[in-house]
Formats: sequence, structure tokens, C-alpha cells
Amino acid sequence: MWNPISIDQFVKIHLKKNPNEKENVLRVRLEAALDDYNKGIKCNCGKDIWIVGSATAPFGCFSCITGKDHPRGDYEIDFALDKRGKDGRRHIDEMDPCKISGMFDDDGFEINPDSIRKPSLCMTCLRNVDPDWEEELLCNLNRNDQVDEEEFKCGAYEKL
Ligand SMILES: [Zn+2]
Repeated sequence: MWNPISIDQFVKIHLKKNPNEKENVLRVRLEAALDDYNKGIKCNCGKDIWIVGSATAPFGCFSCITGKDHPRGDYEIDFALDKRGKDGRRHIDEMDPCKISGMFDDDGFEINPDSIRKPSLCMTCLRNVDPDWEEELLCNLNRNDQVDEEEFKCGAYEKL
């Protein structure tokens, strides 16, 4: 059995246990593993990549990384466990109309903000520092729209 956890929660717990590790390095590795997972890239043995394990080891599945057959309460990023819809994302039509929140792409699939890569431009933007909920949503929508573009452009950019 997996113990589902959000990226933020996992980062917090992991850094508490491993204070010498860098948060941004850990996050980049988690995002890269999740990215591969979402693209359908598998472990060499053919099983799904274990995101949490792949953050601190070469990308692989739970069995290849730990040598154990099944997880017993080991952490896995919740987003990778939710396999509904395309790429494991929920479709707006499957959701309770009263509880629809968050972001959706043009096809109606839910967008997980944690899965959107933050362009380097954002790192020097005023809005990236402690944004409120609405700003963060707009930033994420803009990032998601340009996910396949080589150069990220932003009309709301404000230099720090
Ligand atoms: Zn494997």
C-alpha cells in the first residue's frame, strides 16, 4: 500500500530528515520524475516510476529501487496515484459540479499546479514572491499555456 503525499508535504518531511539536502534540487528531481511518469516513461523493468524514490535515486520503480516487492506505507506523490483520465488527470465532466475548482486545460482535464514547470523568468519576478491565490492561478495558467514554447513570455512580469 502506498501512503499518498503531496509534493509540498514530502519536501517538508524529507528535508527535516535530510537537512543537508537542497530544497530546489529535490523539487527539480521530483518534477522531472513526475514529468517522465506523465509522459508514460517506465522503469527499465517496465513498471511505473516511483516518484518519491526517483527523487533521491536514479529513476526507477519501487521494486528496482528498494529491492522489495510491494510498498508498505511508503510515500508516493498523490498526483502519481490518481490514475483517472488522460495522464492520470481528472476530467471536468467527472467532477461534482459543486466542487469544481482549480485549473483545467482546453480539453477539460485538471491541471495540477505542482506539475507546471516554473520558468526561470519567474524566479526574478515580484509576483513569484508570496503571491496570493488568484495571482498564483493566473501565473500558473500562463505557464501552462506556454508549456511547449521555447521562450516563456509574460505580460505581468515585474522585475524584483
Ligand atoms: Zn523496475
